[in-house]
Order: sequence, then C-alpha cells, then structure tokens
Amino acid sequence: MFTIIRCGSLFDGKADVAQKNQTIVVNQGLIEWIGSSDAAPKAKDGDTVLDHSDSFALPGLIDLHTHLAYGNAKSEENIDLYAPMEFRALRAMFFAQQVVAAGYTSICSPGDAGRISLSVRDAIRAGLFPGPRVMAAGPYLTSRQGLADWYPSWIGTPDTSVGRLIRSVDEGIEEARRQIKDGVDCIKIAMDGRMKRQDGEFMAAFNQQELDTMVTEIHRLGRKVIVHARGREATLYSARAKVDMIFHASYMDDECLEAILKNKCVICPTLTFLRHDIDFTQPTDQAYQEGRSDASEEEFTIACKALSRAYKAGVPILPGTDSGFALTPYGEWHAKELDIFVKHLGMTPAQALRSATSESAKFLSYGAEVGSLEPGKQADIVIVDGDPLRDVSVLMERKRILAVYKSGEAADLRPRKYNPRQVSDFSHQWWSDLYTRERVEQLFGQKQPGQLHAGQTRPGQRVA
Ligand SMILES: [Zn+2]
Repeated sequence: MFTIIRCGSLFDGKADVAQKNQTIVVNQGLIEWIGSSDAAPKAKDGDTVLDHSDSFALPGLIDLHTHLAYGNAKSEENIDLYAPMEFRALRAMFFAQQVVAAGYTSICSPGDAGRISLSVRDAIRAGLFPGPRVMAAGPYLTSRQGLADWYPSWIGTPDTSVGRLIRSVDEGIEEARRQIKDGVDCIKIAMDGRMKRQDGEFMAAFNQQELDTMVTEIHRLGRKVIVHARGREATLYSARAKVDMIFHASYMDDECLEAILKNKCVICPTLTFLRHDIDFTQPTDQAYQEGRSDASEEEFTIACKALSRAYKAGVPILPGTDSGFALTPYGEWHAKELDIFVKHLGMTPAQALRSATSESAKFLSYGAEVGSLEPGKQADIVIVDGDPLRDVSVLMERKRILAVYKSGEAADLRPRKYNPRQVSDFSHQWWSDLYTRERVEQLFGQKQPGQLHAGQTRPGQRVA
C-alpha cells in the first residue's frame, strides 16, 4: 500500500530549481519513486493519493540549534532552576511538536540539562509521541570562563543546569564518556561566554591543549563536537582542534577562517537570535537596560561581514535559531535564519534552502536518511503555498505551510493553546522597576497613588 503525493512544484533539496508537476510515491515511510507525474505509477486499490498539485513541495527542514528544554525562557534561572526536570521533559515534547508544525522535521538539540533531549528523542523514535527527529546533546561542558557557568562561584553549576562545570581535562573526558554512555549524539562545549579580557576580547574557556585532548577523545568515541564560540580566540582554538560545528563564530578573523577551511568545520551562526535581540527587545526589558541590543547590533554587523566571506570561501553556513528563548519561541521563527542568509549573507534562496536541507543533513547523526527528496530517503516533506525559491520568507507564514509529512505521515498543524505563565517565568523577580520617590513622581506626577480619595481606584485595581 503506497501513499502517492502529487506536487505542483518540487525542490529536491539539491538542485537550483524546482521541477514542475512531480509525484512522490511513499512506501512504509520511505520514498520509493519520484519523478514526473506523467510517468508516475498509477494508484491501485488501497493506495492513498494526496493531491498537492497546486502547491510547492520541499524536503522537511532542519534547524541545527533548537534547545528543546529551555521552555521559551526569559532568564537563565528559568532555564536551569525553576521547573523540575520531569516537567521540562514534558514541556519539551509539546514544543518539539510545534517545531514540526512549522515544517521542521529534524533538529539538533545542542545542550540541555540532564537527559531531557535524549529522552524526547527516544520517545519520539519509539513511536510514543509524534515529533521531529532529534540529534541530542547533554549538558554543555564549561569551564569557569564558559557560557554555561552562569552562577556566582559560591553557587556553582547546579545539577539541573544546562552546564556541567569542568575543572580539569580529566573531568571533561569523564563527563564526555558518561554522556556518551547515556546515549548522546554529540557533545557541546562552551568555548567562550561573556567574559572578556581587559583589551575587550572574549577569552576562550579552555586552552588549546585542553580542547585538543577532549575533542580527540570524543572523536575516538565516535561523537561529534559542537562548540559555542563567539570570540576570535575560542573560534580559532575550536577550528584548530577540528571540532565539527561552531555556533556563532561572530568575531572570526583570517587566521580562524584558514583553520576552519583546513579542518573542514561548519558554522551555524544563529543570527536570528541576534536579530531579534536588536529588533524585539523593549526598553522595559532588562536586556535593553544592560545595553544588549546595541551590543547585538554591533555583533550582527561584524558577524555578517565575516560569515559572507567564509561562505564565499567555501565554509558551509548552516541554519539554527537558538529556539527556546522568549526571543525565539519554538515553531515561530525557524525560517527567519534563511531569510537572514539571503538578505545579509548574499545566499540565493536555493542556497539557503539547500543549507536547511541537504547541507544540514550532512551534520546530523541520522543525516543519511533525510535532507533530500530521492528514492530511499525518509518521506519528510513540507507542502507550501508559495514559492520559497523566489522568497524564503513564505516559510515563516503559518497559513502557507499546508502540510508536513514525516515518514509519509501527516503532522498535526493546528495551533495548540497553552498558558505561557504556567510553562516558564517561574523566577522570583516580581518588579522590574525601583519605586523611589523620584521614580514614582516620574511615573504618576504629583497625584501619587496611595493618596487616593474615597471611590478612586489605582491602575489595574479590581472593581467589585
Ligand atoms: Zn544555543
């Protein structure tokens, strides 16, 4: 019994153009035949025919940077502390399904607390729940100078954090071995964070020798290494150590680029996060008050210049969004990265779409099965109203995503309501302002609340 999918146009994930009037024949989740509808095998009794002959088909999309367990968090504390691991895993499953509904049938979840991403991966793989294919990491390996050691040294990294504090190479190797025993597909290392030297340069969290030793051992055990590296030094050490994928690489220079090319690293710049920090952050947000939006704008400009050069030089630039933060909620903005690739890195729409399909698939642990529409591959297919080869931003419009098939099975695309206040935002910050007399006067003028006359109400007060 076959599923026969008729498509108006089809982009196979590899070509420069779409083919018109194509048919895909699916047998037990795999593509059995693909080609012109005129030459397609006729449907027999019991076959299912899906008519998308007015629409555009492309391979299921891939986001290499989606943190399943972050829960659309507004703070690191909310990522790490305020929800039990069990709740985070259930929440991750819900959000994983939102990712599929956006057309993203494969993700890499590079760094989550405990074994959350592994468990979500395994439950989906076992058929317990619908959801995307997941390449999963465990907690980041971090030093005290790395991204994931958020807390003061007198607190350390709690067990429920996305980071695991590594105090020596031996500890790093032991942690990697433990994670690999537990079943991770890749190891994430925080190669820098927010700490800078006095000259303003981001400092790498591990030195060259430490990183070399850890990467060599992880590779010996057959797993890929992903690093967070914004700064020049961390990017350079990572490239020299032959890590597989570098997140960000915003401040890479010629020396970095040379090492990246020599050792065939790929870059997942995750520009959506920076872009949203610039475009969405409001003056009332802490991030704005700390000057993060301005810093992001500067980084975005520098990164786009460096990444365009790297792309022209032949470095694969692959899409990821850091979905899982309040700036990048699951299922909403995954295709924004492709739009940025076109508008800011000079990719054609076809190049951007290839990066999100066949090129990204090369990185995935299960990549041989996905990333293009051809016989023998999984029937992971997105049906779109519009032509993403002309304008990739159509992929961001919910109503344009008409159907998503994973192994030939239709995903549920209906928006599902939930109460965001019961999902994240559990930290104990109750006010975002400081109510000195001066501030209160700024806010309310002379007529200060608290001096209300009988019958007056304060803003927001319930009236019986
Ligand atoms: Zn991330």
